[in-house]
Amino acid sequence: MRKKIVAGNWKMNKTPKEALELVELLKEKVDTDTVDVVFCVPAIDIIPVAEALKGTKIALGAQNMHFEESGAYTGEISAAMLKECGVQYVVLGHSERREYFGETDETVNKKVKKALEHGLTPIMCCGETLQQREEGVTMEHIRTQIKRGLLGVAADDVAKMVIAYEPIWAIGTGKTATDEQAEEVCAAIRQVVGEVFGAETAEQVRIQYGGSVNGKNAASLFAKADIDGGLVGGASLKTEFEQIVKFG
Ligand code: PEP
Repeated sequence: MRKKIVAGNWKMNKTPKEALELVELLKEKVDTDTVDVVFCVPAIDIIPVAEALKGTKIALGAQNMHFEESGAYTGEISAAMLKECGVQYVVLGHSERREYFGETDETVNKKVKKALEHGLTPIMCCGETLQQREEGVTMEHIRTQIKRGLLGVAADDVAKMVIAYEPIWAIGTGKTATDEQAEEVCAAIRQVVGEVFGAETAEQVRIQYGGSVNGKNAASLFAKADIDGGLVGGASLKTEFEQIVKFG
């Protein structure tokens, strides 16, 4: 039985002071054993938020990291740095990073491997554009992203990972995929994981839906067989996040 996981992606929001205010507002409301809850915060907020989350069951996540161990990569943050600061999860290959910062399946793959090497759990994102959906190539695109993103990763590592299906047309738009659309793709992701890594790995890997999840639509999305929770952007910055966690 897979445990559900609800992760808040704060994106480029909240200064360290504001981050602490948000943690204070939410922490008692979302501190639970029944669902894994993760706050994926901006890099500058990691250290103060790690301190503020001590004594809770809420896990800390980052939104990106570099795939090299260390060196001349100005402005970047390594897996070892995240790990030392108490980070447990790292979002990799978010569509905003693919669109604005040139991330590719190849760089995502290198990051996934480096994160796993350091004991971080990747939340690897995939998703189609509206054009791809309208052209009927959603499944091919998603299957390729999954196969390339996980290339060369050991099956037992894939089993520990989280994959987030985030249709790009649903992110930050208020336009959520229907429960059926979300389930169809999450089931296809589980199928491709099964084809490449075996049925046991497919059964264990957790697959989230992301894209305008809110307090109203979370219950029916998370009730679907292959949806193991959500990656939540906008609504993770509000008390509405409590509602979403309750449905996890
Ligand atoms: C996201 O940031 O991954 C996301 C799904 O955002 P939103 O919930 O705002 O659509």
